[in-house]
Amino acid sequence: MSHNNGHTPLSRLPQRSDKRIALRVTPAAERAIRQGHPWLFADAIQQQSHQGQAGDTAVIFDRKHRFLAVGLYDPYAPIRVRILHVGDPTLITPDWFRQKIAEAAARRQSLAASGHTTGYRLVHGENDGLPGLVIDRYDQVYVMRLDTVAWVPHLNEALAGLTAVSGATQVVLRLSRSVQQIEDGLYGLKDGVLISGEPLPDPLYFQENGLIFEVDARQGQKTGFFLDQRDNRARVETLAAGKQVLNVFAYTGGFSLYAARGGARQIVSLDISQPALAAAVRNFRLNRENTAVAQAAHDLLLGDAFHTLRQLSENRRRFDLVIIDPPSFAKKQEETARALGAYARLARLGLDVLRPGGVLVMASCSSRVTAAAFFAQVHEAAVSVGRPLHEIERTFHPLDHPIGFKQGAYLKCLFAKT
Ligand code: SAH
Repeated sequence: MSHNNGHTPLSRLPQRSDKRIALRVTPAAERAIRQGHPWLFADAIQQQSHQGQAGDTAVIFDRKHRFLAVGLYDPYAPIRVRILHVGDPTLITPDWFRQKIAEAAARRQSLAASGHTTGYRLVHGENDGLPGLVIDRYDQVYVMRLDTVAWVPHLNEALAGLTAVSGATQVVLRLSRSVQQIEDGLYGLKDGVLISGEPLPDPLYFQENGLIFEVDARQGQKTGFFLDQRDNRARVETLAAGKQVLNVFAYTGGFSLYAARGGARQIVSLDISQPALAAAVRNFRLNRENTAVAQAAHDLLLGDAFHTLRQLSENRRRFDLVIIDPPSFAKKQEETARALGAYARLARLGLDVLRPGGVLVMASCSSRVTAAAFFAQVHEAAVSVGRPLHEIERTFHPLDHPIGFKQGAYLKCLFAKT
């Protein structure tokens, strides 16, 4: 482990430059930006005043030389500018960041006030007007995840804004994979470092709908927990009484615990990650005071989902409720067809181990796969194996993962009976 004995000196970060980059863009990009699209791609730039550095503010002028928008410049990424503001000329000041974070926090007020959910997404990037910046809360610990190196020179200000709005005492920095590769732009910052406050409690706990989970905010997948499935997990709880449940792509047992609290007789958590399943076991133990959780049998299956589902089927194992929540299969447009194929295979494999009359829950988090295509594919796969599905419900995004632009929509989930 690289650190944990103090703070990463954010003082080493570069000062943000006062020299702004001026840009002219294609008519199509101008239109899109005017309509609120938060990304300007490199190939839509027609004129640029000077080369500039990561995190410089870029001002986009329209064809009549009037101010159109201002954003953060990233020379390393195809998304060259993340748009912060469109319309009247505006200065991006520390106060501006604080204000945006405050607006995002206000939208989550109902969650924050609930008292039994202390883990949720506070800022959802472009969808909350802060493109490339995600902030997740786990009890008193906040995680800032950067999807563009352009945030680095603004990190102190964003952190000050977060602290002012939330009272955050401990803040961890996470970096997307592409940002981790740009060493030049990171000034010594590393994925998982603490950028504010005391070392984290280990383990770190938070609550979701009254269930206790541990989370590894420094090294866990994404920022440590898949907060976007909270509402779907709560739905599973209502469907689980007396059931034998199979949770495929279980991670640290989120769906499994809700099923247990809902009265499931037996739950099998399947995942390819051993540390994730070990955390699932600990999460069950943490919630033993709940009688239903204590009484549910919880078993683990470590392995590849496709392979293991096939084995379960061959061994004639059958379940009443099968949950399939895979990772994103399509990061690029070209991968969409392959992703749909994978969903179809998973749906068929899931149905192979689902008893007649059972419930299939299938989610997709690939933004490249539209909801319509996903639902159609799952239905088609079911029909192809003679197990047509009767829909219970289709669900989309939870409150703390708002959709602010077309590409912001990624999550869809089907609840259906066979
Ligand atoms: N349902 C989970 C989140 C799932 S994230 C929750 O509610 O928290 C996707 C999970 O799929 C990760 O835990 C990852 O380890 C696992 N995974 C990725 N590829 C896999 C594979 N081929 N087989 C099984 N699990 C896989």
